[in-house]
Amino acid sequence: MYRISFYFSLLVLWSILNIHILTAAIIAPSKTPTLASKENNSFSTFEYLDIQDGALAQQIIIKAAKPITCKKHIDNEKHQFVVNINGLALSTLDQETIRKKIEPLLSKGYINRFDLEAAPDSARFILTFKPQRQIINTDTNEFEEAKNSILIRSCAYTKHFTIDIYTKDALDGILQKTNNFIRLAENKKKNGNGPLFAMNESLSCSPLRYIIDPGHGGDDHGAKAHNGLTEKEVTLDISKRIHRMLQKLNYPVYMTRYSDIELPLAERAQLAQQMKADFFISIHANGAVNEKAYGIEAYYFPAKELQSHKNFDFVFINQPKNVALVKKIQQHVNLMAQNSYQLAHTILQKIHTGLSTHYDDINNRGTKPENFRLFLQNTSIPTALIEVGFLTNRKEADRLKQKSYRKRIAQQIVYALVGESSNPSAAAA
Ligand SMILES: [Zn+2]
Repeated sequence: MYRISFYFSLLVLWSILNIHILTAAIIAPSKTPTLASKENNSFSTFEYLDIQDGALAQQIIIKAAKPITCKKHIDNEKHQFVVNINGLALSTLDQETIRKKIEPLLSKGYINRFDLEAAPDSARFILTFKPQRQIINTDTNEFEEAKNSILIRSCAYTKHFTIDIYTKDALDGILQKTNNFIRLAENKKKNGNGPLFAMNESLSCSPLRYIIDPGHGGDDHGAKAHNGLTEKEVTLDISKRIHRMLQKLNYPVYMTRYSDIELPLAERAQLAQQMKADFFISIHANGAVNEKAYGIEAYYFPAKELQSHKNFDFVFINQPKNVALVKKIQQHVNLMAQNSYQLAHTILQKIHTGLSTHYDDINNRGTKPENFRLFLQNTSIPTALIEVGFLTNRKEADRLKQKSYRKRIAQQIVYALVGESSNPSAAAA
């Protein structure tokens, strides 16, 4: 992944499980910006807003150009959840974009009303929920009134603000599932880092579904090498090889893109949801200003950091506080994060050992936490982002240009997923 602005600052972690049930708090009226605040650049601009139709929750993701701080409160009488994002300046165009993006949540009935109050140096989002809503009774096929219970999980973490809206139906589903979430188990018998196995409560053995996501594409070239190689070519080639190998081993496998097309990140994550994937593996190549930087690395979603952040909390609307439910959701998110780490770590180790036996100086830069947009959107699928090397480093770029090198990387990734006994090299293209 070519990051123009690399950022990752872990803010102060307050407690392991920091659950606040917010009571009404007064939000200070937004101040008009002083000239000084503009001069020292303390306000932030809006970058994007995504809506994600997740497996368990509807998610709103807001990204600003700078780290976000916010104030939240709930108005139980008005059934409102109010968020004041400090220092976020919205233009008229931004406001229009946000309203348009929020629209599906209104039309699908998740929220009753959406208000956006934009002052020059702050933005206030007001989500109004329905006290009652109509649901269809599956027995009689008629509409009936149901209390619209909502649980909101929200967090401001570095430059992102996320709101997850769990409806009563979703919450009932979560409570019914005792432990029916996919759990990864690492087979340590072989070479210390054998294949990944996934199992759920029922231990059903349905074949695992993989999604391989070649980073970038189309006009988005990603990182570029001295030898003309682009990141989008490398990612597509390696992904196609993984796809072919898994297919020949009879695993259900899909790619987010099969050709040189541009695909928005939001759509990549949405595809994973639609295809009910068990694993999501995004392939990237690095770029850095420092040409000496080289090596492979992997990223996973830092759920622990996020959940222990002081800005992380749960809010109940139209239903009493339910600690057991909160714990259940936390448990699920933690499990996803552990899975993501294990997926990223196992793949990276395999690539490292596989390349090291054939090439000198393979640098393992490690498995790192990062709250990429892709991770924020893939909250219910174990997701790993693999950087296969630096295109800005001459030696690594020349290696990545070789088909044999790319084939070996693909093969090692398949080994990490399904094990070496399945011999993907025999099936390899
Ligand atoms: Zn990339």
